[in-house]
Order: sequence, then structure tokens, then C-alpha cells
Amino acid sequence: EGCIASYCVTEPGAGSDVQSIQTEAVKDGDDYILNGSKMWITGAGYADWFFVLAYTDKTAGYQGMSGFIVDANSEGVELGKKEDNMGQRCSDTRSVTFTDVRVPSDNLVGGEENGGWMNAMKAFDLSRPTISSHAVGNARGALEEAIQYATERSTFGKPIIKHQAISFMLADMATKVEAARLLTWKAAIKSDSGEKNTLEAAHAKRFAADMAMEVTTDAVQVFGGYGYSEEYPVARRMRGAKVVQIFEGSSQIQRLIIGREMTRGN
Ligand SMILES: Cc1cc2nc3c(=O)[nH]c(=O)nc-3n(C[C@H](O)[C@H](O)[C@H](O)COP(=O)(O)OP(=O)(O)OC[C@H]3O[C@@H](n4cnc5c(N)ncnc54)[C@H](O)[C@@H]3O)c2cc1C
Repeated sequence: EGCIASYCVTEPGAGSDVQSIQTEAVKDGDDYILNGSKMWITGAGYADWFFVLAYTDKTAGYQGMSGFIVDANSEGVELGKKEDNMGQRCSDTRSVTFTDVRVPSDNLVGGEENGGWMNAMKAFDLSRPTISSHAVGNARGALEEAIQYATERSTFGKPIIKHQAISFMLADMATKVEAARLLTWKAAIKSDSGEKNTLEAAHAKRFAADMAMEVTTDAVQVFGGYGYSEEYPVARRMRGAKVVQIFEGSSQIQRLIIGREMTRGN
């Protein structure tokens, strides 16, 4: 039987700045008592379990964080409404509030307190290549639809793909998709082989997310006025591309990671 888990790190007042989270878990006998609010939790309405990042030692900064596996049916877990998002509207995004939720000590990830930060960051090394492939797929779809449309739509007596401005735009879109795919593969291959891939995952996520925003925007341009209509597919792709520059570490945060990883040890 399959189970769905959601990843609860972000809070109303803490997204990029993970150390600013307020959620706290306090030991009580064999359990922990969990209190806090999480925001923008993907799949929350369908989750069987939540991974929750919380402070077990607020005086120790990021080294005082722990990860907990919380049963979604626990007393004190409350879901917010499904958010009305710009894109990816089939995705169920909600706030999740934990009020005096009793969590067994066995559900402390790794079995020891204060390893939560590393667990949360390692999860990003695994998930960022996947998110990058999502961006590549969205952009590739937009490119294919734009090529198809450009061969069918004629202006000034010829298909618009025969206007060099359009064919050059399509060429640039294709190069960007190809480059993002290769970065994604590199990050994924390193991960699959068990090597540390923090830098490669950040390169792939940053480039693929920004690339998908550019390529889907250009696809709308190729479609002209029809691209602006929800009756054609590229508007949805453009709306959906935006969030990939924001979640799983925004494009700005990926640049911070790349800068840090490049200079590590210097
Ligand atoms: C649809 C959706 C689904 C999500 N799913 C999940 C989920 O399942 N689990 C989860 O935990 N979170 C999830 N998130 C939250 C997401 O990870 C955060 O929105 C993201 O980390 C950014 O945090 P923030 O929104 O608080 O923006 P902020 O951190 O307030 O940032 C605002 C802006 O400032 C920029 N910025 C911030 N700090 C810096 C800096 N030091 N240097 C330069 N620029 C900076 C950011 O890049 C951004 O552009 C989701 C968000 C969305 C929209």
C-alpha cells in the first residue's frame, strides 16, 4: 500500500531563511510535543505523513533542529484551505498547523536530536534534480507546441517559422532546453552514484527553473494573441513555470549555494 508524505519546512515567516522557523518540539516522557505552523505544504491534503522540521534546541541555531515523522491523523494537526495558486493548480498546497501534537520519540528522524538541518538539506540534493527535470519537461512541451504552431501559422505569405526572427527564437529555446537537460542528468547521475551533488543540483535547479520561465514565455510569444488565451496550452505552461523559480530554494538561493560551494575550502 502506497503512502504519501509531505515535506513541512516553510512557515508563514520563514521560507528561504530556514533558521527563522518557530516550530518547536519539546521532550515529554517517551514523546515529543510539537507546536508550530507550516505554510505552502505541497500535497498536504492527501498526505498520510508529514516530515516536520522543528527546533529541539532553540539556542543552537540550525544545529538545534530535528526532523520528525508525524502521522497526519494525529490529534492537533489542522489543515488550512487549498491555496488558490497562479499555476500548477492540481497541486494541493495548504498550511498545516501543529498544536500540542504528541509524536513518539521513535519518529525522530535519525534517532538523535539536532540532525534535522542536515536531513532537510540532503533531501534538497535529491529533490532538486527531480524538480529540474520537471522544468525541462514543461519547457520541452512548450517548445514542441511552439514549433508545431509556427509551421501552421502563416503571416506575410509564409509560415512564421520561415521568418528568421521566429526560427532563431525557437533555436535558442531548443538550446536552453538541451543545456538544462544535460545539467539535470549530471546532477542526477552524481546523486545515483552516491556522490555529494550539492553544487550540481543547485546548478541544475537554478538553470532549469529560469530556462523554463524564459522558454514558456517565448512560446507564448510565438503563439501571439492565441498564446495569451487559456484555450491554448502555452499560457498554462508559463504560469506553471513560475513557481519552480520559487520553491525548493528560489533561484536567488541557488546562486547563494553555488557561490558557497564554489568557494568551499578557499
Ligand atoms: C506552490 C508552492 C509549493 C510549495 N511547497 C512547499 C513544500 O511542500 N514544503 C515546504 O516546506 N515549502 C514549500 N513551499 C515554500 C517555498 O519553498 C518557499 O516559498 C520558498 O522557499 C521561498 O520562501 P518565501 O516564500 O518565504 O520567500 P522569502 O524567503 O521571503 O523570499 C522572498 C524573495 O526574496 C528572495 N531572497 C530571500 N533571501 C534572499 C537572499 N539572502 N539573497 C537574495 N534573495 C533572497 C527570494 O529568492 C524571493 O525572491 C512551496 C511554495 C509554493 C509557492
